[in-house]
Amino acid sequence: MSEPTQSEYVDATEREPDAGPAPVVAVVGRPNVGKSTLVNRILGRREAVVEDVPGVTRDRVAYDTVWAGHPFTLLDTGGWDPDGQGMQASITTQAELAVAASDVVVFVVDAVVGATDDDDAVVRVLRRSGKPVVLVANKVDGSSREADAAALWNLALGEPHPVSALHGRGSGDMLDAVVEALPEAPPESFDDEDAGPRRIALLGKPNVGKSSLLNRLAGEDRVVVDEVAGTTVDPIDEVIELGERPWRFVDTAGIRRRVHEASGAEYFASLRTAAALERCEVAVVLVDASDPLTEQDLRIISMVEESGRALVLAYNKWDLLDDDRRETLEREIDRQLAHVRWAPRVNVSARTGWHVDRLVRGLDTALDGWATRVPTSRLNGFLGELVAGQPHPVRGGKQPRILFATQADIKPPRFVLFTTGFLEASYRRFVERRLREEFGFPGTPIEISMKVRE
Ligand code: GDP
Ligand code: GDP
Repeated sequence: MSEPTQSEYVDATEREPDAGPAPVVAVVGRPNVGKSTLVNRILGRREAVVEDVPGVTRDRVAYDTVWAGHPFTLLDTGGWDPDGQGMQASITTQAELAVAASDVVVFVVDAVVGATDDDDAVVRVLRRSGKPVVLVANKVDGSSREADAAALWNLALGEPHPVSALHGRGSGDMLDAVVEALPEAPPESFDDEDAGPRRIALLGKPNVGKSSLLNRLAGEDRVVVDEVAGTTVDPIDEVIELGERPWRFVDTAGIRRRVHEASGAEYFASLRTAAALERCEVAVVLVDASDPLTEQDLRIISMVEESGRALVLAYNKWDLLDDDRRETLEREIDRQLAHVRWAPRVNVSARTGWHVDRLVRGLDTALDGWATRVPTSRLNGFLGELVAGQPHPVRGGKQPRILFATQADIKPPRFVLFTTGFLEASYRRFVERRLREEFGFPGTPIEISMKVRE
């Protein structure tokens, strides 16, 4: 892990306590209209990561950012190029997914080219969704192109905002419009537990058994209907009773929809994962026990960690393993997943139903750990002893000390350490390890940030 910069700490500690999830803004549009360029512009990245190579895939699709004091999560759909075959259906599917996961949609159109049939297909998705839309007329690099922007009034999506994503022209006004469209309060705050069932995302690489498990849990073998893309937006969630309580499985439409073979499928899967993570409280990551711990598995697990959601690991297809293999696998898991040893683990078989009932226990454990709050006095008593027993090593004649600590947030637990100097990463990991030993926190990532006294 690389050393975070000072500014990251400031960002981390200045977030409102118990603020819940930030609203989500999705940037959608057909390929080449400038979505990625616009995302880079909004994130204020100096170096463009846009590459003029078609089909370039990127891992990350969700970014936290702030405009005019309003934090939001930006969902970037630009890294995925649908293939030529069934292009419009792919674009539509992608737009539906992004729209379903977002509170506000930024719809990007190439003003120079004007609206095409593919754009119209997206417009239909946007209309059906009823979500607020900010229409961006992109590539308006100078005033001579303003008329091209005005032509997009025809789309009947409100005012077209003339923007040059490449040069920045008009992007501030456009962001003001985005902020204005943001909901007052997050629609699904983490604090309204009474409002409905706990929200679960079922994640995992293609063919790991997500839809099999879903069918098993739902207690019926449903026919997986190959929906014609663009005909349905909802329902995207399914409520399933487990352990005599209802649980909301988010974005099951994304699981039931088969997109494995399409080019860009992996990116599409990442997008789905990011979208589901935004909406869930706890993620169940399915791993294929007969083909375990591929790069894709590890990437999904780190996406969960980064999102700050609770995590349960489920090893599926356990029926395919013999005794010897089971034993060696346990060792492999321990080694490769040492960094998430805190996650509850269940071995299941979606095919036979074996141990599927144990999932609930894992979910309860993880959700409890996720919401654990340590009283300030206990925390400081514990840290006092820890620091006395094993102080930070002396560096350059100085010894950073922890003066005081507080738990700023839950879901996930977030700690702020007030220190007299920069604590090195290995010492922060030590503190985290000891915090877990002392207080538990099963099933949840924990964040530790510092405020360094000058
Ligand atoms: P995406 O596929 O929608 O993500 O599109 P990209 O962001 O990859 O942009 C496609 C192409 O349009 C790239 O060559 C960009 O440099 C170019 N482009 C993007 N925004 C602008 C703009 O505001 N003005 C001009 N002239 N070109 C742009
Ligand atoms: P998804 O792409 O993650 O939704 O995966 P599916 O549920 O479509 O499953 C992919 C394949 O794995 C199908 O052929 C399933 O029958 C098979 N499968 C799923 N779960 C198990 C399991 O527990 N054991 C075995 N042997 N096969 C399974």
